[in-house]
Amino acid sequence: MLFSQLAEVFERLEATSKRLEMFEILSEFFKKVSKEEADKIVYLCEEQLLPPFKGLEIGMAEKMVERAIAKVSNKSPEDITRLYKKLGDLGLVAKEVLAKKRPTLFQSKAPTISEVYNTLMKIAQTTGEGSIERKIIELTGLLTRVSAGEAKFIVRFVLGSLRLGIGDPTIMDSLSKAITGDRMKLRTDIERAYNLCSDLGLVARVLLEKGERGLKQFKVQVGSPIRMALAERLPSAQEIIKKIGKCAVETKYDGLRLQVHKQGDKIEIFSRNQERMTHMFPDIIQGIKKQVKAKSAILEGEAVAFNEETGEFFPFQVTITRKRKYEIEERAKEAPLVLFTFDLLYVNGKDLTQKPYEERTKMLAKIIGKGFTIRTAEKIITENPKELEQFFEENIERGTEGIIAKRLDSPYQAGARNFNWIKLKRSYRGELQDTIDVVIVGYFKGRGLRARFGIGALLGAVYDEKTDSFKTICKIGSGLSEEKWVEIRKLLDKLKVGHKPARVDSEIKADVWCQPRYVFTVMADEITLSPLHTAGKSKEKAGFALRFPRIQGWIRDKKPEDATTVKEIEKLFKMQKRVEAKTLGG
Ligand code: AMP
Repeated sequence: MLFSQLAEVFERLEATSKRLEMFEILSEFFKKVSKEEADKIVYLCEEQLLPPFKGLEIGMAEKMVERAIAKVSNKSPEDITRLYKKLGDLGLVAKEVLAKKRPTLFQSKAPTISEVYNTLMKIAQTTGEGSIERKIIELTGLLTRVSAGEAKFIVRFVLGSLRLGIGDPTIMDSLSKAITGDRMKLRTDIERAYNLCSDLGLVARVLLEKGERGLKQFKVQVGSPIRMALAERLPSAQEIIKKIGKCAVETKYDGLRLQVHKQGDKIEIFSRNQERMTHMFPDIIQGIKKQVKAKSAILEGEAVAFNEETGEFFPFQVTITRKRKYEIEERAKEAPLVLFTFDLLYVNGKDLTQKPYEERTKMLAKIIGKGFTIRTAEKIITENPKELEQFFEENIERGTEGIIAKRLDSPYQAGARNFNWIKLKRSYRGELQDTIDVVIVGYFKGRGLRARFGIGALLGAVYDEKTDSFKTICKIGSGLSEEKWVEIRKLLDKLKVGHKPARVDSEIKADVWCQPRYVFTVMADEITLSPLHTAGKSKEKAGFALRFPRIQGWIRDKKPEDATTVKEIEKLFKMQKRVEAKTLGG
């Protein structure tokens, strides 16, 4: 298929502010896609060349792209920079200069989607000496073959600012509709396959090649991250025991969730959103090599920085400050990480995800040898609410986040949030003590002091699984330092779109809209009702809002769809009411 057809679809997706229309456009388009190109098209829609766990980056800075645009349009790089300052988007710059130069193109030269994809892959894979020049040459070559409209999307893609905001759930719905005529018919199977391999392009290709049967054959594989199981919440020890009976109660560590894949001496580490993080954890890799007694294994745990001087854990923010190489080495010495493992999904060729929790964790304890770095999460097994409560209080005193209770007979349900795991954080005493993970969908230009940063408050939303959309819940104006305001504005400007994004549901008009990408942890005093916000809003009911929200954590390792959901907010709201009623009644 010609790339121009995909560009046309992107053009329509960019223009729509309605989620349903986005779904219709995509499902119509997927009907025409060939099995050979299905994976590439899905990746391009996801705004990536390969899934994040492959760790591939295009590696072209703006200046390099400017030079390619200059070459192809016969202008000077200075002209291009000037135009960029005016238009604020290199995609638009490419479109403008190329439209003037050659409004139409010879069809025979027009590239297919595969050709565009392969060239972009080549650019990404070009590394080492002279790679800057070679990347520019490749991109220039590609831009000479496409129309002005196509160039806009290619340039944006290369810079990571395509900003279509499609989202995996929309792609899964559209695939099901395209193949069966029904949005839901294959949805569960598609999602199951995706949960096991974290590669939606691969799922699409197998679906087109082998149909439903192919989807059912997906299996856990060492090297492909499994989408992580998530926890529900309940407000008290009593309610937890009432819900799941005798259970394991583990410490909830406040660190980074990691999934470790081991095949002999080859170790890979993935984050919660399936990014490859192997290079960041040399100390954990050493620990795994020394302590894990299994040929192959996939295990999960929470990595926490440990202060050997005091025997205490460092807070989350310390755990994640390992980015550049020297920082990694320094931090590994100053604040070594401990990985508290809590699940085993695969061992020595056997998939354990369908085995009960008890069996999985017994195996886990068996394969972990003595040592500093790799340990198993502390836990008790109980059916007594008082005992659970006491373990919880002890944990709070030690400065951990609380506990997670786990059903003893539950399988590992990849990608699912349900009552197999239940978290209990500090008590919900009337005010909201738990944090909410909020997605930023736009911002407001500041007044007063903030005006000089051009950003005064953020528009925050939560995720609504039912409609696959983001619904607003708060305006956030505090919790960030001056530097962070400037930094977040730069990040958000890269996601800027001219109208409300299709998957955002808002009655408030942001000064600047942006595609949902960044997730922040927000603290608030309580959840209230408000007609202004759309989270949980219906004809009969006002929406939910956060009172006095302030940013507590800088960008989480979560995708927008992993933010707190409307359903969770509804539950938190009810819990808050229950605790209030109890407190008032003594
Ligand atoms: P939350 O991010 O508040 O939804 O809580 C779930 C997170 O708690 C998981 O994704 C893990 O990162 C973290 N966690 C800490 N300790 C445990 C544990 N023992 N079992 C499962 N998750 C844990």
